[in-house]
Amino acid sequence: MAATLTLAVMGLLLGLGLAYAAEFFKVEVDERLEEVENRLPGYDCGACGYPGCAAFAEAIVTGEAEKLSLCKPGKDEHYNAILEYLKDHPNKDGSPVDIKK
Ligand code: SF4
Repeated sequence: MAATLTLAVMGLLLGLGLAYAAEFFKVEVDERLEEVENRLPGYDCGACGYPGCAAFAEAIVTGEAEKLSLCKPGKDEHYNAILEYLKDHPNKDGSPVDIKK
C-alpha cells in the first residue's frame, strides 16, 4: 500500500514537473513560415541565395529578403499567392510584412 501511494505521488510530482517544463521551455513558431514555404516552388535549389525554401520563407516573413523574385524558379502565381497570404497575416504588431514582388 505504501509503495503504491509513493509511486502515485511520484508520478503526480513528475507529471507536474513535466507540465511546467513544457510550458517554460515552449518555443513559439510563427505559423506563417510554413504557409509561405508551401507557396514557394519547393525545389530547394538555393538560387535565391538562401540554403532552401524554408530559409527563404523565413527571410520573407522576417523582412530580411528584399523581393520575392529572388526565387528564380518562382512565377507570378507563387509571388501573388505569398503576397495575398501575407496581406491577410501581418506581423504581430499589425504592421505589414515588407516584401515586394
Ligand atoms: S530559389 Fe525558390 S525554389 Fe529555389 S530554394 Fe530559393 S525559394 Fe526555393
